[in-house]
Amino acid sequence: MTKKIAVLPGDGIGPEIVAEAVKVLEQLRKEGLDISLDYGLVGGAAYDETGTPLPGATLDLAKSADAILLGAVGGYKWESLDISVRPEKGLLGLRSELNLFANLRPALLYPQLAGASTLKPEVVAGLDLMIVRELTGGIYFGQPRGIRTLDNGEKQGYNTLVYRESEIKRIGKVAFDIAGKRQGRVCSVDKANVLECTELWRETMTELAQDYPHVDLSHMYVDNAAMQLVRAPKQFDVMVTTNMFGDILSDCASMLTGSIGMLPSASLDENSKGMYEPIHGSAPDIAGENIANPLATILSAAMMLRYTLDQAEMADRIEKAVSQVLDDGLRTADIHSEGTTKVSTSAMGDAVVAAL
Ligand code: NAD
Repeated sequence: MTKKIAVLPGDGIGPEIVAEAVKVLEQLRKEGLDISLDYGLVGGAAYDETGTPLPGATLDLAKSADAILLGAVGGYKWESLDISVRPEKGLLGLRSELNLFANLRPALLYPQLAGASTLKPEVVAGLDLMIVRELTGGIYFGQPRGIRTLDNGEKQGYNTLVYRESEIKRIGKVAFDIAGKRQGRVCSVDKANVLECTELWRETMTELAQDYPHVDLSHMYVDNAAMQLVRAPKQFDVMVTTNMFGDILSDCASMLTGSIGMLPSASLDENSKGMYEPIHGSAPDIAGENIANPLATILSAAMMLRYTLDQAEMADRIEKAVSQVLDDGLRTADIHSEGTTKVSTSAMGDAVVAAL
């Protein structure tokens, strides 16, 4: 049966990088991949057109699709809008409406790019870690929240960190299952020494570990985890953590690999329906210049084939094609170094299609 893919390019470099991932999917469609592609508006582009960053039509499209391919949202133009209609709300709305609670963020260092990392090659060479971030709970969604005026007239901002046991278990299971197919190690990251909510997180992960005798569980405070990620990142296999800690740690992990432009992500619901997107934002500073790195988005399409469309072989082919173009010395500006060939966004996409 034809699998429906909702394509949401979004803002900034979003349309440019999504176009390259679509080129790759179109090539696979010619070879028999049974998919349909339907486009929708999200983020600032949707706000400009409809007055909301997540129009009903886009939500319906996303709900009826088997998978969603998203570029990025946001940009200078919309920064002064009320927070309720900022582009990022479109993304948060999609994640929560579709119940995409599990965010998988691999940080894999292609050996060809070991020199692109700001860390010493021996610290990062061979790095292959997976951060599993809880995506629909925690402080980004907790109530009450807001900015209030106190009796003395001073303003106070407040947010709430909340997790139910069932939410912790659900994300924990995803992490343990993935670790079972990798090196069998989960490091759960919390701040249990200060935050009661993550004390419960730690207790629940420890209980869950009983069901996974073949997976080793360790715990780490988030401050130490940030330090260990840059000190000795290869000690990690799978890290599982809360929404906000995962947001920060995964960006940190991305830099171990040299460029934020190389890293894909998947956000899954309980039935493996997923939204796939690069981990970076809309990069308004380079939008429209045809210089953005499309590989994170192309690798997101590979994750889509692997996790939602059950096409592991095609996913492998895309990942190998990306490795091939790097072997051939092709680099977008963000990963370019002496002795390699600088190419545009579209030339990089063409090269991946050719290498397929
Ligand atoms: P960003 O990730 O957009 O950019 C950070 C830096 O990395 C910039 O210098 C940018 O040029 C560079 N960069 C990012 N992606 C790149 C790529 N594919 N190729 C080459 N260089 C790349 O983060 P930011 O500047 O903090 O945010 C810009 C906008 O994106 C903001 O509006 C923010 O809210 C939004 N944002 C959206 C998402 C998302 O849609 N998932 C995630 C993060 C930020």
